[in-house]
Amino acid sequence: MPANYDDNNIFAKILRVEIPCHKIYEDAETLAFMDIMPRSEGHCLVIPKRPARNTLDADPASLAAVMASVQKVARAAKKAFAADGVTLAQYNESAAGQVVFHLHFHIMPRFEGVKLAHHGGPVADHALLAAQAEKIRAAL
Ligand code: AMP
Repeated sequence: MPANYDDNNIFAKILRVEIPCHKIYEDAETLAFMDIMPRSEGHCLVIPKRPARNTLDADPASLAAVMASVQKVARAAKKAFAADGVTLAQYNESAAGQVVFHLHFHIMPRFEGVKLAHHGGPVADHALLAAQAEKIRAAL
């Protein structure tokens, strides 16, 4: 375990299946699931299974696997919601806006003229998140 990695972060708990997530995609190296406080319709996250605090300390092979999954899920999310575009975001350390200290990439489908909601907004309805995860899965 890297010295700067806190194994009690919420995404480590999701990986250990100690708390649930609305899963979209999983392979040997990565997991994709819905963000529970979505900033856009279909906002989801991709994380590596290997512990990494953020991009700055991630193993390059793990980072490459994450990016391959980001591309796969971003394409599916764009298709699932007939989005006009997709914003990717990733924050490194508190000063940059990072809140959860396990590397993650945000995938946010975008629609002409629609602004992103606030970071850390309300938790979405779980039935809605489940339906959205299913929709993205179907477009993979
Ligand atoms: P940041 O570290 O700034 O990229 O923000 C962490 C992101 O994780 C935010 O977009 C939160 O809405 C999201 N988040 C926090 N807890 C959970 C959870 N249990 N399941 C899914 N997403 C979460």
